[in-house]
Amino acid sequence: MEFCLESLKNECLPPRATCSHPECSAPAVWDTNYCWTHAHDQEALRQRIVAAIKKHEGLVGVCLAGVDLSGEKLERANFSYSDLSYANLSGCVLRQAQLDHVLAEGCNISGADLSGASLLFACFGLAHCEGTKFCGAVAENVNFVGASLVRADLSDAHLFYSRFANADCSGATFRGADLERAIFRGTILRNADLSEIKGHPILDRVVR
Ligand SMILES: [Zn+2]
Repeated sequence: MEFCLESLKNECLPPRATCSHPECSAPAVWDTNYCWTHAHDQEALRQRIVAAIKKHEGLVGVCLAGVDLSGEKLERANFSYSDLSYANLSGCVLRQAQLDHVLAEGCNISGADLSGASLLFACFGLAHCEGTKFCGAVAENVNFVGASLVRADLSDAHLFYSRFANADCSGATFRGADLERAIFRGTILRNADLSEIKGHPILDRVVR
């Protein structure tokens, strides 16, 4: 939690409504009064969310914290300014999707395809990005602090000023990526491919 900017929460995200379940302080999902854990019918809610994403070509500025949308085909969907914290988007097709300014701490996008997606100023601190494809993605100013990017494919991605402190990038590929001012501090880069990169990343106490 300490990795995300308070200003992002306060200025960009919708007012946070809390779950109506007694003693639960988790945020209420989308247009409901309950968090994902306390949703009356998770499968019905999942279907309603997916239908809304398809109808509106995305869901901008809403709370989808903790929701399970794993495996959905959400190509080109727009999630900008939405709260995807701890959501399960594993295996999702998110090619050319827009996730600018999302708050996606602890989100699971393992095995998802975000090729060509836009992730400007997104917060993926502590996120699970194992084997995730970010090929050619525009991921500038992204917070990947403490994230797992094991075997992630970031080839040709635009990663200007993105932060990878304490992230695990074992076996990840950054081939051809623009890493100008990207920060790798205490980052695990075992078997990572940094060939043909552009720009001047900051490499500080990385583990090779
Ligand atoms: Zn709750």
